[in-house]
Amino acid sequence: MTLLDFRLADINTIPLNGLTSQVGNTPLLPLRRLTLRPAQGGALKLSPRVKIWIKAEWFNPGGSVKDRPALNIIQNAIADGNLRNGKRLLDSTSGNMGISYATFGAALGIPVTFAIPANASPERLTLLRALGAEIILTDPSEGSDGALLTARQLAAEKPDLYWYANQYGNPANSGAHYLSTGPEIIAQTNGQVTHFIAGLGTSGTLMGTGRYLREKLPNVKIISMQPDASFHGLEGLKHMPTAIKPTIYDESLADTNLTVRTEAAREMTLRLAREEGLFVGISSGAAAVAALQVASQLDEGVVVTVFPDAGYKYLSDKAMWEGK
Ligand code: PMP
Repeated sequence: MTLLDFRLADINTIPLNGLTSQVGNTPLLPLRRLTLRPAQGGALKLSPRVKIWIKAEWFNPGGSVKDRPALNIIQNAIADGNLRNGKRLLDSTSGNMGISYATFGAALGIPVTFAIPANASPERLTLLRALGAEIILTDPSEGSDGALLTARQLAAEKPDLYWYANQYGNPANSGAHYLSTGPEIIAQTNGQVTHFIAGLGTSGTLMGTGRYLREKLPNVKIISMQPDASFHGLEGLKHMPTAIKPTIYDESLADTNLTVRTEAAREMTLRLAREEGLFVGISSGAAAVAALQVASQLDEGVVVTVFPDAGYKYLSDKAMWEGK
């Protein structure tokens, strides 16, 4: 019996500990210097009674916020018997969800296959291959929707080979945030959070966290954030008006929706590294732009946003890091 056979045979009895026990409970860090100095040319003055906190999701073992939904989806699939007999987990991904699935897939002996746009950063594609994932590259001009349609079609064609995890429609995606991100933010702010902001990709982060916070604190403001145009450089985020709407997305949950320009997010990403020591990805830069915008309009408040991942997967974007 090989090690792999052993793992596959025992999958339903392996306790989910080890790597998977380290998902969640990420730090909540303050934005300090950025909130003291107005943005270049801008006039974002913050009241001293306004605080901005960021949920540092790159502390997850798979390196991003997507560890939460990936693990919850896998745990549910195992419990429902969907991953028996060597069935492959199949999904579309812009990178991070695939990295999380592949991380836990490798740890638990679950084979994984992803449809991913061919223009995903080289770091992401290499990382997925390193973790043993099977990758199907899709047309970059079709973006994440092209990957979604490819995965859907493959799942319909080969139901015996693949179990379609469907992160855009699987309630265990937003459910993960309802069960973990929401309660953590309440605990870490002592229930003082007044505004919650999250970028929209699948919308799982906003939906699950937003629903939990709204239940516990009926006056909390929930703010969604997305790119300002269908062609954009905010990897991981979707321009909802022109994208296939995720089944789990309910646009009536957010009180307000903000749009962020790619250029503004890129500049902010570099400022976060240089002025806060926060080396994060571009969607974190976008979240910071939105959080500063919301915070600048308040007299007092506790603004919380999510920084989905670290900057390592974007290192090949030299122009951004060199401020060009
Ligand atoms: N930022 C990055 C870097 C991501 O990979 C994702 C997930 N696609 C998001 C933001 C958005 O998260 P969600 O899918 O929960 O809306």
